[in-house]
Amino acid sequence: MSVSAYVGLGSNLQDPAAQLARAVMELARLPQTTLLAQSPFYASRPVGPQDQPDFVNGAVELSTSLLPHQLLDHLQAIEQAHGRERLRHWGPRTLDLDLLLFGDETLSDERLTVPHTELANRDFALQPLLDLNPELALPDGRRVDQLRAQCQDNQLRKLPPMAGSD
Ligand code: AMP
Repeated sequence: MSVSAYVGLGSNLQDPAAQLARAVMELARLPQTTLLAQSPFYASRPVGPQDQPDFVNGAVELSTSLLPHQLLDHLQAIEQAHGRERLRHWGPRTLDLDLLLFGDETLSDERLTVPHTELANRDFALQPLLDLNPELALPDGRRVDQLRAQCQDNQLRKLPPMAGSD
């Protein structure tokens, strides 16, 4: 059975928009998975340490019959392939992939919490979700548009579409 899963993408190193565009292509090639839609990309001020470049963020909607932890394995493999370094908490990174929503499932263990713990507080995750689905709600019923209106403002700036991304 297939589930609609939303994955958030972020980068602030080594041509961030190109990192995201490449990651979207890699997500589209995952087994048992179809890429349904891709959001615009947004630039935003970093959360946490300010002495680092702005982030570029976006999100995709996937249809997948992978299990949540299998999908996480693939997300982490893609992160590794992008040479992600974990230098410091909330520090710069070449690619960050977060499993934001997995159907209407709620789960939490030592590896995976869905919905993502910070989703409700991050405009750079909520706004791309809204672009993908204006009616989207979390499993607990909270609407993404209302969370977006309430959360901290990280000065999102919509980036022009990359050539060939449509
Ligand atoms: P970060 O890359 O800093 O966002 O955190 C990565 C860690 O968060 C990994 O160890 C994952 O196992 C864990 N994690 C927990 N929930 C999620 C989620 N929904 N999406 C991605 N990583 C998650």
